[in-house]
Amino acid sequence: MKYPAIQNYVGGQPANDSGTATMDVFSPLTGALISTVPLSGAAALDAAVQAAKAAYPAWSATPIKERVQIFYRYKTLLERDMKALADLVREENGKTYDEARAEVEKAIELTEFACSMPQLIQGEFLEVSKGVEARVERKPLGVVASIAPFNFPNMVPHWTIPNAIVLGNTMVLKPSEQVPLSAVKIAELLKEAGLPDGVLNIVNGDKQIVEAICDHPDIQAVSFVGSTKIAKVVYIRATSNLKRCVALGGAKNHLMVLPDAHPEMTASNVAASMSGCAGQRCMAGSTMVGVGAIDGIVAKIVEEAKKIVPGQNLGSVISKEAKERIEQHITEAEAAGAKVLLDGRNAVVPGHEDGYYVGATVIDYVTPDMRIAQEEVFGPVLAIMRTSTLDEALAIENANPYGNAAAVFTASGSSARYVMDHANAGMIGVNIGVPVPREPFSFGGWNDSKFGACDITGKSSIEFWTQLKKTTTKWNPESRVNWMS
Ligand code: NAD
Repeated sequence: MKYPAIQNYVGGQPANDSGTATMDVFSPLTGALISTVPLSGAAALDAAVQAAKAAYPAWSATPIKERVQIFYRYKTLLERDMKALADLVREENGKTYDEARAEVEKAIELTEFACSMPQLIQGEFLEVSKGVEARVERKPLGVVASIAPFNFPNMVPHWTIPNAIVLGNTMVLKPSEQVPLSAVKIAELLKEAGLPDGVLNIVNGDKQIVEAICDHPDIQAVSFVGSTKIAKVVYIRATSNLKRCVALGGAKNHLMVLPDAHPEMTASNVAASMSGCAGQRCMAGSTMVGVGAIDGIVAKIVEEAKKIVPGQNLGSVISKEAKERIEQHITEAEAAGAKVLLDGRNAVVPGHEDGYYVGATVIDYVTPDMRIAQEEVFGPVLAIMRTSTLDEALAIENANPYGNAAAVFTASGSSARYVMDHANAGMIGVNIGVPVPREPFSFGGWNDSKFGACDITGKSSIEFWTQLKKTTTKWNPESRVNWMS
């Protein structure tokens, strides 16, 4: 194995969960076994929670201006180790190097945002009646948990770690068991930056550990990112145990292309949106709704998609099962009457014959009743539907149960505005295929793409990771002492 067996990380030290079953970790680039990960249970979680609990009093009492100093140092360590971190993401997740590097760059941006927290969380103060003062402060919650998916092993943990910890919480992180390597490096770098032991702990595992997190009485809040099916389960279980929870789910993002869209810009944006990170992004534009006469733009999209080559500028998908599932979607759509304009099935990368690759795929004349139009495919596949009017396109977009993102491609400001007003999704793109709001704006979808009140990043996350303490003060003027020396 290229990497040592993964261990949990408790109280600033690797923690061997001996006797626990382990799972093999494969690199999707090559299919090679690269490590193993423990599938820990409730006892390992409890050890991590106790470490986080022990660290909480001192950490939460540390002034925030001191807490952020550690994250300023951490940011420079992320920059120093950028290549090693990107290589790790690439190896465990299968992205291209540029995509893996972009993930670490985003982690740096998220860390920078957390460093601005002292400027963002000042409290409020008012003399509410004569001699009576009211003040409101943001206080941390205690021990919190963060559960991550496989598709961004470095970035998604940074959606929660810097903000939650800078705000004074201590944390237990549960990485995806499919990509457990990056989290170890994150913990090591935070320790090097000066984060006290126990403030960040890691437990590995699958369903069992997630359920234990939802049930643990000493965890105050749970953030989850993953598929809708599991997000619902986690949200219901965590909140029924009276915890705060924000659970981000899957997505089916529609790109509405109008006939007046700029052909080249639209084609390159749509192709990049559907194929970036091998389509394994919750922001992937996996479905295009072409309105009216758009054959010319469709032809250009196919031209662009042909330039996307597995093993060169297209990474692998996460597993053999994912490859089979994606190819099955294409086969079914074709059998149902859709037209495969570019076929990425059976892709093989010379020298990496055992890697899990699917080539860029463009399927035209998909109809809303087909499975490929309804389910999250999570591969480099674009399903194109056709409508005569923008209202029909919006109706298709709004009928899908998800609501992460939607985009419109047009030269008309008023058509764009109409989509901004009427698309039932949390993040809207205008001539942008992957409309991720950059910091300080928050990230989060609507409908079945997110359960819970707050977004997971940006200013909205401050609400999630803190609670308000309201103090009303009055001093008796008679008790004033006029000190004499
Ligand atoms: P997943 O739901 O399979 O796994 C997510 C986490 O849940 C993992 O840590 C996993 O160990 C755990 N888990 C798996 N099965 C479980 C079960 N039965 N009970 C409890 N926990 C369980 O998701 P994934 O395949 O790792 O990630 C891909 C999914 O995540 C896609 O649907 C994608 O759209 C979504 N995603 C959403 C966002 C967003 O912002 N909305 C961001 C990234 C990924």
